[in-house]
Amino acid sequence: MRIAVTGGAGFIGSHTVVALANAGHHPIIIDDFRNSKPFIVGRLESLCKGKPSFHEADCNDRDKMAGIFEKEQPEGIIHFAAYKAVGESVREPLKYYRNNVGSLLNVLELQRQFGIPYFVFSSSCTVYGVPDELPVTETSPVKKAQSPYGFTKQVGEQILFDLQKAASESAKSVILRYFNPIGAHPSGLIGELPLGEPENLVPYITQTAAGIREQLTIFGKDYETPDGTAIRDYIHVMDLAEAHVRAIDWLAEKRSEAGTEVFNLGAGSGSSVKEVVETFEDVSGLKLNYRYGPRRPGDVPAIYANADKALKILGWAVQRKLSDALRDAWNWQQQLQKLPV
Ligand code: UDP
Repeated sequence: MRIAVTGGAGFIGSHTVVALANAGHHPIIIDDFRNSKPFIVGRLESLCKGKPSFHEADCNDRDKMAGIFEKEQPEGIIHFAAYKAVGESVREPLKYYRNNVGSLLNVLELQRQFGIPYFVFSSSCTVYGVPDELPVTETSPVKKAQSPYGFTKQVGEQILFDLQKAASESAKSVILRYFNPIGAHPSGLIGELPLGEPENLVPYITQTAAGIREQLTIFGKDYETPDGTAIRDYIHVMDLAEAHVRAIDWLAEKRSEAGTEVFNLGAGSGSSVKEVVETFEDVSGLKLNYRYGPRRPGDVPAIYANADKALKILGWAVQRKLSDALRDAWNWQQQLQKLPV
């Protein structure tokens, strides 16, 4: 199938492009490099079976997007393009609402205009807020958002549920709630490209190990967890990428049944920040310079997924371990420093 991948040069988008191409689909990358770099597209061409299409465009540019859809005639859309920094969203809420909600509306309207049957939306476990019970399932309550970023994901999901109620077959979509995607393609050719100082744990760790940052601060050591540090469900980005292929294939198989289905995508178990640091030290053979600091505002003590639904319906479960993801993230960090970009 011809699949439009908005944000296809970004972290999760780029790995999904590789997974789609290598499963026999034709990815149509749409990205304006606001959170990526053009060299990623060249690297995607070398990693993909067949040459993916590429268009430089802002998803908020409705006319330009219409031109791309007219030319490329996609049969499915995976919509990644969005801002994702929680802290920045608190400082600049309008930027987040404009981009994350505006681009989704454009893409959904174009989906209808061009009669594109399949739609996959990038959501996040942030919609669960501070969960009452662990692990969280897809039916766990959606809690009041802790940030404008989190609210844009809740709004995005609600738009899809409303479309399902209002319409019919054309409103068939999948919502994927990601837990903590980390790692990189094992080739070291693509990975995460944080803008400035990383907000997320694993890029902070690899940049500290590479000498770009002086020291990692572990936010909080007094949580009610076995070692006092916060617990998250880390998932290798290639496992996550492969889940998108399953989602698109599943939509195509089940086309006659209209509806919007939600899936948690996680490993189904949690790791503490300290365990992540120690596992990184094991796989890299390095001692990481870190200290403990206060809790980060807005952080939940622990969250991890129940991913049974994805296994039962999509036939998907993680294949890679935390250590694989950290090894691949470290390899990517090292390659990034060596190669001209
Ligand atoms: N974290 C940390 N130091 C950092 C960045 C993150 O201790 O420099 C912790 C953070 O408090 C959380 C976990 O690492 O408990 C994962 O944070 P991240 O920002 O990667 O993902 P989130 O779970 O917030 O989406």
